[in-house]
Amino acid sequence: MFEVSVEDSFAAGHFLRNYQGKCEKPHGHNYKVRITLAGEVLDKAGLLVDFKDLREVMKQVIDGLDHQMINEVAPFTTVNPSAENLARYFYDEVHRRLEGASRGRVRVKNVTVYETDSTTATYSQ
Ligand SMILES: [Zn+2]
Repeated sequence: MFEVSVEDSFAAGHFLRNYQGKCEKPHGHNYKVRITLAGEVLDKAGLLVDFKDLREVMKQVIDGLDHQMINEVAPFTTVNPSAENLARYFYDEVHRRLEGASRGRVRVKNVTVYETDSTTATYSQ
């Protein structure tokens, strides 16, 4: 099994609903996102996936969140924008965008969202 990972970052604001503590008030984070893909078969060039393509897909998802108040962006108008839910959002969005292109050869293994350098949440299926 091969795995490839790419990391990217963005800055955004959020607050947590149904939560008592610092994070119930609007504030910002410099988020980092790490996406890992997995598959058993390489393409003719010996790549599982071109990093360039994975970066592009990731950028499309990040562009919808960068410098936004995440709570105002669907589905986070109703889904709480915790690191956990952001990780699942990136997983679903990248999965959806890669599905057709890779014809099932590559799958999203997991997504980790770093809310700070030392606090992360990971989603996998
Ligand atoms: Zn926060």
